[in-house]
Amino acid sequence: MEVARDVHLVPGTLGNVVLVLKPQVALFDSGLPGDGPAVLAYLEQVGAGRRDLSAIALTHADPGHAGGAPWLRRNTSARILASPVEAAVAAGQRPVTTARQVGRTLLGLAGRRPETFAVDGTIADGDEVAGFAVVSTPGHTAGHLSFFRSDDGVLVAGDAVRVAGLDILAPAFWDTSSEPRARVSIARLADLRVQLLIPGHGPPYREPGAGLRRAGGPPGFMEERLARVEERRERRRRRR
Ligand SMILES: [Zn+2]
Repeated sequence: MEVARDVHLVPGTLGNVVLVLKPQVALFDSGLPGDGPAVLAYLEQVGAGRRDLSAIALTHADPGHAGGAPWLRRNTSARILASPVEAAVAAGQRPVTTARQVGRTLLGLAGRRPETFAVDGTIADGDEVAGFAVVSTPGHTAGHLSFFRSDDGVLVAGDAVRVAGLDILAPAFWDTSSEPRARVSIARLADLRVQLLIPGHGPPYREPGAGLRRAGGPPGFMEERLARVEERRERRRRRR
């Protein structure tokens, strides 16, 4: 389904997979392990060949977002791109939270065990993928990225926010690497002129500005809290 100019939501995947057709064919996120064939079928349906797919850029390494990537790389011309932190998670070189370990185990039992894989390149603030600027939005996970196209205000937000009905919410506290950091990231997104927010799960949300500002908290508040959290961490590190 086309949700913005040359931007499609791929049907039939559990996490949102966003397909961009121009200026190059690229995906943001890749669904769960086992979602690859649905993505390929949709590519063909919109007239893009598997050799046209140049990149799969990941918001983060959770299996609902990164799980389809290695299969898609084997079956297309795509390179996998992620932030350095998420690349380390995908490669199994960085531990994940207990909640995430449990999730992975359950997926394994359901026959969708995530593969570990090495990415082909890393991306960070200032880079661009398929006409979208990379925006670092840590919080839900430590290396989470969002992608923003400024000409028409399309934001691919991954799990930086949750959309619940008409509300835009920060990730649940148990589902973050750092809650204050997650809120600071949302405040950063609220400063962009977002016209259409495509979350990691659920339908796109039009004119999310006010909701993003609410979810990010009052201006400056979370930055202060984050600074205090980091001060404490630094003190602990020095004591060790
Ligand atoms: Zn996630």
